[in-house]
Amino acid sequence: MAEARAVLLGTDGIERLVGLLAGRGYRTLGPVVADGAIVPGPVNSSADLPRGVHDDQSPGSYRLSRDDDPSLFAWAVGPRSWKAELFPPGAVVFRTSGTGSEVQVVPVLDDAAPVAFVGARPCELAALGILDRVLGASEHPDPLYSARRAAAFVAVVECARPAPTCFCTSMGTGPAAGAGFDLALTELVGDGGHRFIARAGSSVGDSVLAELGGRPVPPAAWDERAELLERSEAAMSRRLDTDGLAALLARNLEHPRWDDVAERCLSCGNCTLVCPTCFCSALDDVSDLSGATERRRRWDSCFDLGYSEVHGGPVRSSTRSRYRQWATHKLSTWFDQFQTAGCVGCGRCITWCPVGIDITEEAAAIRASDGETVRKDGQA
Ligand code: SF4
Ligand code: SF4
Repeated sequence: MAEARAVLLGTDGIERLVGLLAGRGYRTLGPVVADGAIVPGPVNSSADLPRGVHDDQSPGSYRLSRDDDPSLFAWAVGPRSWKAELFPPGAVVFRTSGTGSEVQVVPVLDDAAPVAFVGARPCELAALGILDRVLGASEHPDPLYSARRAAAFVAVVECARPAPTCFCTSMGTGPAAGAGFDLALTELVGDGGHRFIARAGSSVGDSVLAELGGRPVPPAAWDERAELLERSEAAMSRRLDTDGLAALLARNLEHPRWDDVAERCLSCGNCTLVCPTCFCSALDDVSDLSGATERRRRWDSCFDLGYSEVHGGPVRSSTRSRYRQWATHKLSTWFDQFQTAGCVGCGRCITWCPVGIDITEEAAAIRASDGETVRKDGQA
C-alpha cells in the first residue's frame, strides 16, 4: 500500500463506520457494558459504546465508574478478549453420519458472518498476532481460527487510559497501535473538540476510510495524539523487566518462589481463561444412542489437574508445578516454540486473579534472588 491514508473524523464518523461495516456484511462487535464489565458485544450504533464509562482495576479487583466524560474509549481491557470470537470457547469439529462400515466423518463448516472488531486495544492486536503464529501459522493450522481471522476487520483504538494493572510498555505492545490493524483510531477530546484520527493499515481499511470521508489531519491533532500517548506511557507504573527473562526463568525452575506462589494460588484457571493468548483446548467425543458422534473442542487450562493426565496420573500434580508451567510458558518456553513471548502485558491475569497474584511481581521476585534453589518439601 502507498502512504497510509489518515483522516480526522467527528464522532459521527464512528456512527458511519459502524454502519458502513455492517453494510459490507460484517457482524460488528465493539465494547459494551454487560454484567458490570466492558466486554465485546454487538454494536449497531455509537450509542451502544461505553460513553463516559471507566474501569478501575487493581490486583483481584475490577469496578466500573461513570462520569460526564464524552469519551467512548476511556477504559483499558475487560475480562473477555477478542480471542473468543476467533477461537470460540466451544466448537464442534466434526460429526459422523451412518453406522458400521458406512460411517462417515463430516467436517462442520463455519457459517458465521465475518466479524469486525471496533475498539480492540493495541495489546489485543498484538495478542491476535501471537495467535496467528500459534493457531494460524503452525504445521497444522486451526481451520476455524484461520478462516475467521482472515475474514475479520480490526479497528484498534489507541490507549488513553491504561489501568494500573497494564504493562504493555514493557512488552512493546502499546499504548500506540502496532502493525496488523485495518484501521487505527485515536480518540481526541481536547480543546479542538471530540474527534478521531483514523489511519488505514490495510487495503480494506484504506477502502473503508475512502468511503468514510473525513478531513485531512491538522498538525495540532497529530501533536495532541503524541501528547496523549506520552501521558499513557507515563501513567503505566507496572513494569516487567524482560531483559534475559526467558533464560532467567529457565534456570530457576527450582526457585523457592514457586512454593510461595503455590501457597496463594487457588489453581482456579481464571488467569488462563481471561488471557488473550492462552490457547489450550481439549477434545471430547460425544455419542448418542443412534451411534452419531460429535467431536467437540472446548477451552481447557493448564491449571486443571486433568490437563496433564497421562497413564498413572497427572504430570503436574502440584499447584506449584502448574503455576510454574503457566508462567514459564508465557515468559520463557513460548519463545522456543513461537519466537515471541506469550504475554502482551494486558494485565487481565492480575485483575481477574481472585487472590491478586501478579505475574510481574512473581518474575521480579525470582530475578531478585536469581539462582536460589532451596525447596521446602522436595515435591515436583
Ligand atoms: S499473561 Fe496476563 S498480562 Fe500477559 S497477556 Fe496473558 S492475561 Fe495479559
Ligand atoms: S494465579 Fe490466580 S487466577 Fe491463576 S490459577 Fe492461581 S489463583 Fe487462579
